[in-house]
Formats: sequence, C-alpha cells, structure tokens
Amino acid sequence: MNTHTGYHSVIQRLNAAATPTPKLVTVSKQQSWDKITPVLDAGHRIFGENRVQEAVERWGDKRDQYPDLQLHLIGPLQTNKTDDAVQFFDVIETLDRPKLAHALAKAMDKTGKWPDVYIQVNTGAEAQKSGVSPADLPDLLDLAHDLNLPIIGLMCIPPVDEPAAPHFVLLRNLAHQYALPHVSMGMSNDFELATKLGATSVRVGSAVFGERG
Ligand SMILES: *Cc1c(COP(=O)(O)O)cnc(C)c1O
Repeated sequence: MNTHTGYHSVIQRLNAAATPTPKLVTVSKQQSWDKITPVLDAGHRIFGENRVQEAVERWGDKRDQYPDLQLHLIGPLQTNKTDDAVQFFDVIETLDRPKLAHALAKAMDKTGKWPDVYIQVNTGAEAQKSGVSPADLPDLLDLAHDLNLPIIGLMCIPPVDEPAAPHFVLLRNLAHQYALPHVSMGMSNDFELATKLGATSVRVGSAVFGERG
C-alpha cells in the first residue's frame, strides 16, 4: 500500500464516521521513514510511539524541522523513564497506577514540562495487563488531582479476542461520569466504530502506514 493513500483513506473514513472527527494520532512505531515522510509532507504532525527511548532516538532531531510536532506516548511507562517521557512527549496516554502518578508529578516538577495525561483503563478487567481497573479509577483520579497532574481523558486498548464496542462504551461513559473531555480509543481495525461511539482521539498505525516491521 502507498502510505500517502493509506493516510488519506483513513482521513476520509474518519470524516464519514462522525462529526466532529476525532484527532488522528498516526502510530509510527516500527515504521520506516519512507512511510512516515509522506505523511509529514501531507501536513500531518501528530504521531504515537510506544517506547520512550525509541521515540527519542527516532524523533529527537525532527523537532527542529517540524516545530509543531505533537508526540504521544501510547505504550507502558516505567517509573525510571518518567523524566525522559515528560521532557519529550506532548501527551502521555498511559498513566495506570499510583506509583507512576507520583513519579510523573515529580518529573513534571523537576523538568517544568507538563504534558497532557490520559489515564489508561483496563476495561477488559483480568484479560489484559495494562490499565487501571474501572473500580480503582476513582482513587487514581483523586490522587492525580491531588498531585495536580494535567489529566485530560481516558484511554483503552480492548482485548483482541473480544468485540470492542462494549469496551468503547464503557470508556466513554467513565469519561462522562468523571467529566473528562477526551477519550482515546480505536485502532486500525476499529477506529470508525470507536469514532461513532465517542472517541475524541484515535490511534491508527497499520491502516495509515501498512504492516509494521
Ligand atoms: C500499535 C498500537 C496502535 C496502532 O495499532 P494498529 O493496529 O496498527 O492501528 C494503537 N494503540 C496502541 C496502544 C498501540 O500500541
């Protein structure tokens, strides 16, 4: 697939799915520059990466060339990487535990950078490792509030072997319940469904760039 075509077709499908269209985070992890450059050339600036170190290596020297880049961390974050993550990313989508909330707050104080933060919710309960359970979400939100973390919304990755719709509905309802404006959900296979169910941000990799690796 031609990358340029992939990008434009995803944009068209998003436009057709709902108004207003969600923010499109194109997931560039493990993709080559041959594939990423046409998307940058088309004017797109919002990219997702799942590892701190890789993202810094890949995108570190692109910031000068593209000052309006917005980079989202969409993968799990270890507490010993929070300084780098806070320095580098514009948005961190994967806060999922109290220890990480404390580490992020410390890193933000230290670096003076305050990226927007999503809390990742494990809507699939036991099926999946990352994310706070819906039952533990209120306490994590209270803690994040006490620490003055800039929480803007909720994010989820539904289990691959289940229909995604109930997970999307649950996440949207939780965001409404806690008055959080943003909902990050939907990937290549289900971003239109997620959009119809209230996503304000979708994370799309292979449908834009082709298969990874
Ligand atoms: C890799 C990844 C995506 C993109 O996956 P595709 O199926 O290629 O669209 C989205 N979200 C997260 C958290 C990911 O790790």
